[in-house]
Parts: sequence; C-alpha cells; structure tokens
Amino acid sequence: MALVADVADAQGHGPVTLIETDDPDALEAALDGLPRAKALAAPSGFLPPTDKRGLLVMAFAEMNRAAPAPAEVLPLPEGAPFGQITVDPDACTLCQACTGVCPTGALLDNPETPMLRFTQSACVQCGLCAATCPEDAITLTPQLDFAAWDTPRQILHEEPPFCCTRCDKPFATRSGIERVQSRLADHWMFQGEAGEKRLSVLAMCEDCRVEEIVTQGFDPHDDTTRKVRTKADYPTDAE
Ligand code: SF4
Ligand code: SF4
Repeated sequence: MALVADVADAQGHGPVTLIETDDPDALEAALDGLPRAKALAAPSGFLPPTDKRGLLVMAFAEMNRAAPAPAEVLPLPEGAPFGQITVDPDACTLCQACTGVCPTGALLDNPETPMLRFTQSACVQCGLCAATCPEDAITLTPQLDFAAWDTPRQILHEEPPFCCTRCDKPFATRSGIERVQSRLADHWMFQGEAGEKRLSVLAMCEDCRVEEIVTQGFDPHDDTTRKVRTKADYPTDAE
C-alpha cells in the first residue's frame, strides 16, 4: 500500500484508499463514497496477466499512462521491490556468479558469448547478485523506470570471448584470466622462470591445461618444491 500510495502520489493521482471487504454491497458503497475521477479520453484496454508480479508491473504502467503527471523514472525508497542494477565494467569479469543466484531470471547470461543481460521489470532488488559478486561490481538502485520496462534484456556488460593460447578454443574472458593471474602472481608456485610458465597455463582451456601440466612435469608435493603448509611442517620444541 505504501508503495502504491507513493507511486500514485508522484504520478499526480492523489491519495490512495484501501478497501478491505468480502461483501460486494460494502465494496459498492465504499467505491460510491470515493471522489469521482475524471473519465479518460482513451480508456485502457488490456488483458491482465495472471501472475502477481506481471499484474503489478502492468498496473503501474497503466497508472503512468493515465497519470496527470506521467513520469519516466520514479526513485523509490531502499528495499522497494523494483529497480535497476548497475555493473562496474572495470570490475566485472563476467564470471556469471550473479546470474546463477538471481531468483527471478532478471539477470541472465548469453550462452553464445560472454555477456550480462538484465530485465528491469523482473528485478525484485533482493540484492543476492550484489552479495554474491566476488568483485563487488554490482550496485542496486530502487526505482520505477517505465522506459526500461519497454526495453527488456538490457546489456549490462559484455566482452569478446578469450581463446585458449594453445588450441584457440574460446573458453573464458580476458578480464577473468587476467584477474586470476594477478591474484596468483605472488604465490610461491608461480615464482621464477618455471612459475611464469605455470602462470601462462592459466590462459589455456581445460584440456590443454592438463596436457601442459603433464608436459611440464610439475609435482606440487615434491620435497624440493613444496613449501611449509601444515602444522606438521613446524617442529615444536617438544619434538
Ligand atoms: S557482476 Fe560480479 S558476479 Fe556478475 S559476472 Fe560480473 S564479476 Fe561475476
Ligand atoms: S537484485 Fe535480485 S532480482 Fe534483481 S538482478 Fe539481483 S538477484 Fe536478480
């Protein structure tokens, strides 16, 4: 009710009244008691969707179409169940963790190419995508954007596919590979000349990676390469 009242007020429809009754006569009397709205020159004609969310989206869109002061974008308070998400293109690696958790299908990948697509009318602003993103790349903006509702599947971010440096198969994104390489660059396994070769393996697809590792003959459990990693590697005074 608070959301509907805010939207109706911003669109110039005036105050909203809640009528709660299961008695048709009481409903009729309550409706008769309300101030009469001006008849529209072009009345609405539509078939209401059967799902709750679709009905709410359509009701808001029709309220805006018939509003004395139609709006393009209406900002809403934090926690409102409508809004936009923004993705920072410099931070996003297109890992698709966010599309995996989106409960409404508002955020989608594109099976053909690395891409994030978004349908604003389906976003309930639950924040799961932002909480899941490992790069903190997502920002939520609660709002009603009637123009965006008419443009389903906005492209929030895209990159050309990254191809395996050995067999040329597309398998990842350049930003994803570079992010993993930069995070592992300080690890002991990736130091020196041999380490650089291992780092380059990360730019290979899953098949070539296995072949390359076998060819390099690297054994992380070899005593000469292994670093201290467990409590057992630290002898105590008692020992
Ligand atoms: S926004 Fe975050 S979770 Fe979504 S694809 Fe980009 S980096 Fe991954
Ligand atoms: S806020 Fe929720 S509904 Fe909206 S895109 Fe993120 S996960 Fe999906």
